[in-house]
Amino acid sequence: MGWTRKVLRVNLTAGTCVAEPLNMEWAQDYLGCRGLATKYFVSEVDPKVDPLSPQNKMLMVTGPLTGTMASTGGRYSVVTKGPLTGAIACSNSGGYFGAEMKFAGWDMIIFEGKSPKPVYLFVENDRAELLDAAGLWGKTCWETEDTIKAKHQDPQIRVSSIGRAGENQVLYACVINDLHRAAGRSGVGAVMGSKNLKAVAIRGTKGFGGIRDFKEFLAVTNEKKKILADNAVTGQGLPKYGTQVLMNVINEMGALPTRNHRDVQFESAAKIGGEAMHEKRPTDGKAQLVTNAACFACTIACGRISKIDQTHFTVSNNPKYWGATGGLEYEAAWALGAANGVGDLEALHYANMLCNEDGMDPITFGATVGAAMELYELGLLTKEQIGEEAPFGSTKALAHFAEITARGEGFGKELGQGSKRLCAKYGRPELSMSVKGQEFPAYDSRAIQGMGLAYATSNRGACHLRGYTVASEVLGIPVKTDPHVTEGKADLVKAFQDATGVFDSAGICIFTSFAWGLADVQPQIAAACEGDWSMEKLALVGERIWNMEKQFNLAAGFTKKDDNLPPRLTTEACKTGPAKGLVNELGKMLPEYYKVRGWNEDGVPKRETLERLGL
Ligand code: SF4
Repeated sequence: MGWTRKVLRVNLTAGTCVAEPLNMEWAQDYLGCRGLATKYFVSEVDPKVDPLSPQNKMLMVTGPLTGTMASTGGRYSVVTKGPLTGAIACSNSGGYFGAEMKFAGWDMIIFEGKSPKPVYLFVENDRAELLDAAGLWGKTCWETEDTIKAKHQDPQIRVSSIGRAGENQVLYACVINDLHRAAGRSGVGAVMGSKNLKAVAIRGTKGFGGIRDFKEFLAVTNEKKKILADNAVTGQGLPKYGTQVLMNVINEMGALPTRNHRDVQFESAAKIGGEAMHEKRPTDGKAQLVTNAACFACTIACGRISKIDQTHFTVSNNPKYWGATGGLEYEAAWALGAANGVGDLEALHYANMLCNEDGMDPITFGATVGAAMELYELGLLTKEQIGEEAPFGSTKALAHFAEITARGEGFGKELGQGSKRLCAKYGRPELSMSVKGQEFPAYDSRAIQGMGLAYATSNRGACHLRGYTVASEVLGIPVKTDPHVTEGKADLVKAFQDATGVFDSAGICIFTSFAWGLADVQPQIAAACEGDWSMEKLALVGERIWNMEKQFNLAAGFTKKDDNLPPRLTTEACKTGPAKGLVNELGKMLPEYYKVRGWNEDGVPKRETLERLGL
């Protein structure tokens, strides 16, 4: 539906909600969602701001394809300065909340200041008001959503909220919408909590409109849906196995980070992957997976809805967790499982449920548990300190840590700070498997060289959603490249990073890029939005967004030394698998990357680059 051309500015300190027109000049240069909100953010916020202070702002934003029938067109993003990293943060989520925001008539909501008491924002089409959330504070995301819907007597209200992790300033707290969809990374939920903002509840009945050429849009979106349906990944692999389709593939190629990246293959990978979720359990004869699920307008439906084994020790006395709920997705299964050496699928589902229930990023949480287990094995943490024996593989320790972290109890407070702060506190900073303070996702860059460069240069810290070269290096999309070589990876990483900026800013899911290139997205944007949306312009938009984010980080104090990997990945070779003997060769790729980007040797964009991009 293109843009609604309306921004809602909410001043939490003053308690005001004011509508203002969207800056359409910026919309033409930054498209929407991630790009457009980041433009607003960097124009209004001091890069040196303390992320958890009232001076930081938080923006919820949709893209021009959000709320349309373009496949996966239901995405929204949360943009802020992230407390985990101190860098620009943009976390993207699916579900139905983003579309509802568009149906209520808003492209973006800007939150500024800090409320003197807990509140939630209630939006019903044009009407917006801050309501008392005293009764919601201390509740989980699930309880919050139910309570708000019951209070307003409308089950169709869509809710984004924080759980106790956000309230307790867990530095990797997420914002959860539709019970189990998450704006997951970089701690955007902690920023929301710091503002005493418990939830945003939206009901929109204005429906669908504002498409530039509706007939053309219908034709082109239908044609592109067919491409998704016919593709082996988006038409078969993802609907059947979800992102968990990757667990065995990545393990076999020796790229599954295991036990805090000590190893690259996990002996129990087959027990925690997508195929295992389909297998019937001996205890109750049922598979963990109940069904797949789709976000708004999505024709892929990669989401997992599962039920835990009721006899498992984690839930046998707690029927609250016996129902069907979201998960496991690949990144969570890896972080809660292989990263800690835990091969118990039911325990992973339990820990993942707690992450969803209380709004906590399972990637950073799981990776932080992995770091804690290594510190424990080194004798730097003891059972007395942390409340459990915690060697790698301890299912009990994983469950215990999942229970205490969001609640901020005992050792959970330390886990809630992430692995960088934890490892530094216990004298082994190099054991934090992170970049810019954010933990790696599920691909070991010793076996997938391009991912090392993508992680090191990612503007929001280590991330698979800021340049997923796995598509090319592992799956051969759009062309197969050798994962073990460094040649050509600078160009590859830049291409993926810039294209991702366009997918994110359009309001569609990055998983479409398994089947779609920019050339498939371009006609959908062009049919929906007024203005020139040529391929050349879109390529420039993606590059502009990347450089804008980089400029913010430089002004925040980041330097070349932050475009780095932990020494384990550049000095300790893979012990097994096809990449045995390899380390990541970041040093070879980084100078070339800076050159390709038009940056100087310190990783600073040159004047001519900024001028070319209009920055
Ligand atoms: S592909 Fe998966 S994550 Fe993406 S929109 Fe569809 S269901 Fe949601």
